[in-house]
Amino acid sequence: MTSPRDLKIAIIGGGMCGLACAVGLVRAGIPVEIFEAAPKFEEVGAGVGLGPNAIRALTALGVMDAVQARADQPKPTPRPYRVISGMPGHEHVYDFSISDEDCGLGIHRAAFLDALVELVDPNITHFNKRCTSISKSSTRSTVHFSDGSTHEADVIIGADGIRSAVRGSVVDDKHLAFTNAVAYRGLVSAQTLKDAGFKTNASERPINFVGNDKHVIAFPMRSGQTINIVAFARNRQIPMGFIEIPPGQSWVTPVSKQDLLDEFSGWGSDVMALLGCIQKPSKWSLHAVYPPLETYVSGNIALIGDSAHAMLPHLGAGVGEGFEDVLVLCRLLSEPQTNASNVASVLQAYDNVRRPRANMVQQASTIAGDIYEGYGKPGFTVEEMRERLSGIWDPIWHHDLEADIAKAVQSLKENGSFV
Ligand SMILES: Cc1cc2nc3c(=O)[nH]c(=O)nc-3n(C[C@H](O)[C@H](O)[C@H](O)COP(=O)(O)OP(=O)(O)OC[C@H]3O[C@@H](n4cnc5c(N)ncnc54)[C@H](O)[C@@H]3O)c2cc1C
Repeated sequence: MTSPRDLKIAIIGGGMCGLACAVGLVRAGIPVEIFEAAPKFEEVGAGVGLGPNAIRALTALGVMDAVQARADQPKPTPRPYRVISGMPGHEHVYDFSISDEDCGLGIHRAAFLDALVELVDPNITHFNKRCTSISKSSTRSTVHFSDGSTHEADVIIGADGIRSAVRGSVVDDKHLAFTNAVAYRGLVSAQTLKDAGFKTNASERPINFVGNDKHVIAFPMRSGQTINIVAFARNRQIPMGFIEIPPGQSWVTPVSKQDLLDEFSGWGSDVMALLGCIQKPSKWSLHAVYPPLETYVSGNIALIGDSAHAMLPHLGAGVGEGFEDVLVLCRLLSEPQTNASNVASVLQAYDNVRRPRANMVQQASTIAGDIYEGYGKPGFTVEEMRERLSGIWDPIWHHDLEADIAKAVQSLKENGSFV
């Protein structure tokens, strides 16, 4: 076997990262097959914010035009958050000032997925294929599915999300914990909010209402006509991983509007108006890959996206890190010298550059939540909060991924995998 085009690659999971990876590899001339547990490609009805680094990775993968065509805003724009107290009076806390080049995009998840699905050849997708385990071998490994079928591949890419089945073939422990945080989500039209007496302008820039152990994000979509709302509450009395949601119990449950309003009882009028507009609110038990993984690869198996580093969503950076994984992995697998005999070293090089960065972002996301939800706590001043918020996105948005790829290729030359 002499070239990456001879590799047989299986992607487990057809979410945002799995599909982006399939498109990237196929465009590089590498054949792949996607195995998705669900009967069709599907995303939840909520928005997702893409930061500048996510947009750069999608652009480098050649999929940003398709994504942009499905977005409701004409182009990415700078999206500087405004931080406001969630308490009565809604004291202004902080405005992020960001450069004109730091553009982001809010897009409906289903629209994003549709954009990628259009780029994928239906003949390479297999639905109702739930991976249950992988039999490893030093050359080809075999994926086992719940319907009893199997599939052999030179490289297996685990893109099967936070509850990854592939992860069990890469690390020993389950590395999955309930974060003691819950999120209530909803999409509401800006007009409905106005009619309900919501006074803050959330159509032009994202708003973060902060408070003690809770915060509420409102970010604009569809050029400000729709507001994506995510209200977070976290129990910090209990260590992470201490409580487990029983197996079989859904992580997403419907809640009554009253339960949601009760959770934020005592908060200011704009927060109550915002939450009161969510029709049929649902409560998400937020989990994370925890403790962070000590490796994203084992032999010829690699993890990308949430299967590797699902994180608290407090910097809106989770899927962006997944797209960075995808870009680095696609570029390394499509290096002309990659082949079946050195692919394990190539995956190791992927791990060496991706894991430190994505695990750093994962940790930064937890810390960001601690800052937002420190507001109002004794001893935590607004000045301290401003200081800790300033530049919080810099290491995430301003990272040179091309340098990482070059470093990985150089390491493969140095260890003799590439000449
Ligand atoms: C409340 C909330 C808000 C968020 N907001 C943002 C944001 O604004 N910006 C951002 O960047 N990130 C955000 N995130 C994180 C983002 O949603 C995830 O990082 C992203 O969805 C991960 O994509 P993925 O493709 O890795 O996994 P997933 O989207 O989970 O896709 C996994 C796919 O694998 C399939 N699958 C699962 N198990 C198997 C199996 N055993 N066999 C085969 N297939 C399987 C699933 O059906 C699914 O299609 C947020 C997360 C939450 C919870």
